[in-house]
Amino acid sequence: MAVIIDGKMLAKEIRLNLKKQVEKENLKPKLAVILCGEDPASKVYVRNKSKACDEVGIEFKEYLLPNETTQEELISLIDKLNKDKKVDGILLQSPIPKGLNIQEAFERILPEKDVDGFNPYNVGKLAIGEDGFVPCTPLGIIKMFEKYKIDLEGKKAVVVGRSNIVGKPMAQCLLSKHATVTICHSRTKELEKELKDADIVVSAVGKRNIIKEDMIKKGAVVIDVGMNVNEKGKLCGDVDFENISKKASYITPVPGGVGPMTIAMLMNNVIKAHKIKMKK
Ligand code: NDP
Repeated sequence: MAVIIDGKMLAKEIRLNLKKQVEKENLKPKLAVILCGEDPASKVYVRNKSKACDEVGIEFKEYLLPNETTQEELISLIDKLNKDKKVDGILLQSPIPKGLNIQEAFERILPEKDVDGFNPYNVGKLAIGEDGFVPCTPLGIIKMFEKYKIDLEGKKAVVVGRSNIVGKPMAQCLLSKHATVTICHSRTKELEKELKDADIVVSAVGKRNIIKEDMIKKGAVVIDVGMNVNEKGKLCGDVDFENISKKASYITPVPGGVGPMTIAMLMNNVIKAHKIKMKK
């Protein structure tokens, strides 16, 4: 039976440590979140981020933009927040309404306020192995490996999914920890073959049960980033948790695994941005 990685508890521990830091060092960090459009899931994510900010002692300011927002209006808000000396971090919640260019918006956020790590400058920093802002989900997963003392060096890691926000930065993070990394995606011919002897599997697809028990090697570490809804309307991941948890050595649940760690890492990145600003 696999060890179930308790992301909820680890995230709580991290938030508590950050809160202590904020109090002890009298920090005044501030996060600005832009929510553009009416995506219901995004509203829930933003609410959770706001709660975490409250808990840690980060000032949280939400900017709600309507569906009809133009690219110019979005960019002009980002420019305003870039100039605001009190704002340490700017987060643009995705997705944004169709017709708007999210990549251009990410590129507009100053690298030093880019707490999501999506600006090409930070993407490049991660690629060349320099310190910058690392996207919160992969960063949270690396923290889980550290906490559970899961050694990555020389391990065969397979990341399923190649998005800019999860799959690609995850692969970079694993590479920087000396894993041998394979990235799979929708055009991968035989996913089973790629996964067969993987020591570490990270699934970031967004399809329920795409990772089945017979695809996984006995003793593998299985990290489930997916957020899907099952037939009962309950949140579930990409992985067949019930069966794979009998075969893996470590596994993350959904909910209570990667999700809370993503938010804890956002808090971590905002405080990091604030401290860098204070040093200047
Ligand atoms: P995207 O939709 O941007 O990317 C999904 C990836 O999965 C793509 O690279 C796609 O390939 C690949 N894919 C689709 N079908 C298959 C398949 N049959 N076999 C192999 N690969 C496939 O999603 P995100 O990266 O943004 O998110 C992935 C999941 O993680 C979602 O469920 C999302 O909700 C969740 N998520 C969870 C977070 C958390 O904190 N827990 C944070 C962020 C996301 P291709 O590139 O070829 O299209």
